[in-house]
Amino acid sequence: MTPKKLKIMLINPPNCGRSIPEEKYGITSLKQIFKGEPFCLEMLAGPLDDHDVIIFDLKCESEEALWKAFNQFQPDVAGFTAVTCEANTVIAMARRIKEKSNTVVVIGGNHATYDSEYFNRAEFDYVVIGLGKKSFSELINNLACGKDGRNIAGIAQTSPGRPLKYLKRIYSETDLMEQISPRYDLVTKYRSRYFLEHLGLTMGFVITAYGCTHKCSFCSVPEITGGRYLNYSADSVIRDIRLLGDIPFIRMVDANTFGNPSLSLDLYEKIMQSGIKKKFFADVRPDTIVQNQGLMKNWKEAGLYAVVVGFEDFQDTRLAGYNKKYQGHLIRESIDILHGLGIVIVGDFIASPEFDESDFEKLESFITANKIQIPVISVLTPIPGTPLYKKIKKNIVISDLDYYTFTNAVTKTKMPAAVFYKTYADLVKRLHHKPHKTN
Ligand code: SF4
Repeated sequence: MTPKKLKIMLINPPNCGRSIPEEKYGITSLKQIFKGEPFCLEMLAGPLDDHDVIIFDLKCESEEALWKAFNQFQPDVAGFTAVTCEANTVIAMARRIKEKSNTVVVIGGNHATYDSEYFNRAEFDYVVIGLGKKSFSELINNLACGKDGRNIAGIAQTSPGRPLKYLKRIYSETDLMEQISPRYDLVTKYRSRYFLEHLGLTMGFVITAYGCTHKCSFCSVPEITGGRYLNYSADSVIRDIRLLGDIPFIRMVDANTFGNPSLSLDLYEKIMQSGIKKKFFADVRPDTIVQNQGLMKNWKEAGLYAVVVGFEDFQDTRLAGYNKKYQGHLIRESIDILHGLGIVIVGDFIASPEFDESDFEKLESFITANKIQIPVISVLTPIPGTPLYKKIKKNIVISDLDYYTFTNAVTKTKMPAAVFYKTYADLVKRLHHKPHKTN
């Protein structure tokens, strides 16, 4: 059968999620706003050249506009991505699609990977589990040929009322399909809306690796690649940077950049040879910084402007509980190195619902004493499917996923909840009182 040219609509859900501090205590300053481009959808669209593909970004457009565009385009396939706090919103949208059309509805992303059974319901036809660039393109090929997606590893056909069954995918470099670029052109009309809130900078995304070298207990990254750390070649990263044209800021959206130092050195050398002049942002582990100081110096020379460092805490017992695999002294060393190089630090920290007043005070003292320019404090959240979730499942008091935004305590707080949120909000306000100025 000659494959049919399909119309495919990839949908990025709106900013959603609910806020306990706002609903219960009138604190409006703790909402999470995500403003990055839907890079995973641009990646998915890459191999679908034989089809008619659009990306609709609900973080930039209204839901009313979505339904208007849907009615005009009449897609054969609608593909959603969702993190945990977006799961219920996406289900409601998928339901509306199913009520009004015969469109095949597919869901992928972090929540589909960690808690795939959550989407085993009539609103969806397929769940993409893990890295989906190749498996989703295989599904589209099958659908274009009038077949289903049952035998594709990493794709589950839904079976409401019965457990989801699917072939486990063993991820490898071939799943990266690195010869195919992300479809940046599909989000051109939204580009000016994609900026890093804390710095107020527009930026473009590239990726140098999927997965992670580690398995922190709260993190939903490692399972995306079945625990593997898969790297792109320097040439493909440089190709993608060039595709972003004159955008001056490049965010490397790997969860763990420089996790393979020799490949990161190769990328640095090729960037220098290519004459590319950009400012880069990366996510780097403190132990990577300490163990690879020469590499960090090289990358500073190549334009590394800021790093997001998931410090999470500075106390050894809590770091061990998160399975971070480093201790507090190493965090201080990494901070000194970054300050020495003049690299801006976006420091991620976790406020545990177990925190009392003195824990918040110690965290503030640490951040202030160490001059972390942009501290970001999240509430410890057991994302379903993670090791943390399995460990503290019995303590969960809020199971509505709308609240899994990293600014709500879904387990019981040690302090009275009203005091916990006020202390947390006041700390965030004080820390952000003097916004960081960019060069
Ligand atoms: S928190 Fe960072 S280092 Fe830890 S598993 Fe996740 S991506 Fe890897």
